[in-house]
Amino acid sequence: MLKPCERPMKMLKLEALSRRLSANHPKQERIKNDFRKIRTGFNGERSIGKELKDLPKEYRVFHDLRLDHAGSRYFQMDFLIITRNYCIIIEVKNFAGTLYFDRTYPQLIRTKDGQEQAYLDPLIQVDVQKSRLNDWLTFHKFPSLPIETLIANANSNTIIKTTPGFTPIFKKITGKETLITKIHTLEEKYPSEQLTQRQSTRLSNTILQKNTPHNPDILKLYQVDEQDLLKSVQCPECAALHMHYHWGKWSCSQCSYASKDAHIQTLRDFALLIKPNITNKQARLFLQIDSIDIMQRMLSALELPYSGQFKNRAYRLDGLIHE
Ligand SMILES: [Zn+2]
Repeated sequence: MLKPCERPMKMLKLEALSRRLSANHPKQERIKNDFRKIRTGFNGERSIGKELKDLPKEYRVFHDLRLDHAGSRYFQMDFLIITRNYCIIIEVKNFAGTLYFDRTYPQLIRTKDGQEQAYLDPLIQVDVQKSRLNDWLTFHKFPSLPIETLIANANSNTIIKTTPGFTPIFKKITGKETLITKIHTLEEKYPSEQLTQRQSTRLSNTILQKNTPHNPDILKLYQVDEQDLLKSVQCPECAALHMHYHWGKWSCSQCSYASKDAHIQTLRDFALLIKPNITNKQARLFLQIDSIDIMQRMLSALELPYSGQFKNRAYRLDGLIHE
């Protein structure tokens, strides 16, 4: 995979925000709900990503791309697969129950536990992505490449139905189990190469370079005051914010768990919620450490890149985020 499955920034930020707010904070419930929704979506994408690992190496797979459309709005794709002959956009869904693709009035009706719910038709959604990607390729001066679209449902226990006479849409809808077979069937439709090796490499590089991950300022988005964030190091065992540093290690006053590196997650939380770099003073305040020297040793030991001198030295924390 040229861009493997990585948890999205918003998911990491919501998780950090939830653990840094008191249990009874008024925004806590909404944050937890939104986190669970994103996590379900990501788990579905990750399970589809596992299947895609079986594709031969001529298939260049990108997870979660967000590209700009004609310099203005962004469009997002769960997976984009590129070969020299054609490409495929995959939209991942996590529907359980019975899905009815209504073609008389384009919408998707999901029935689960006797309850009906209507959704935007994902077939329309992928058509929009297809036309945006087509524009994007033209804008970046690539030869036009045939674009196929697939909707992959990550949930295995789903029954799919459609309006009589519209069964060809089943070609575009797949479960996890039949995904690779569908891709190989599509391959037969495009026997000729559209891109040279050189163009294909330039395309992959341009995609990676132009990808702009959604990275919201989470405090602003949820209107949470920075002062509401709970400080100090969190216990990796019992999640209490009651760790104290003594004789080279952290120990939890709640459950007595001891750890040498519990501060790393706290620094990661700082990076996700406040800003991507930290000074000794800011770190002491957030980790609740009194000694400048101890803080200095802890930050130096992490071998983080830094800028500035003496007390203005700011350590970059980005490298800790995806660990
Ligand atoms: Zn503990």
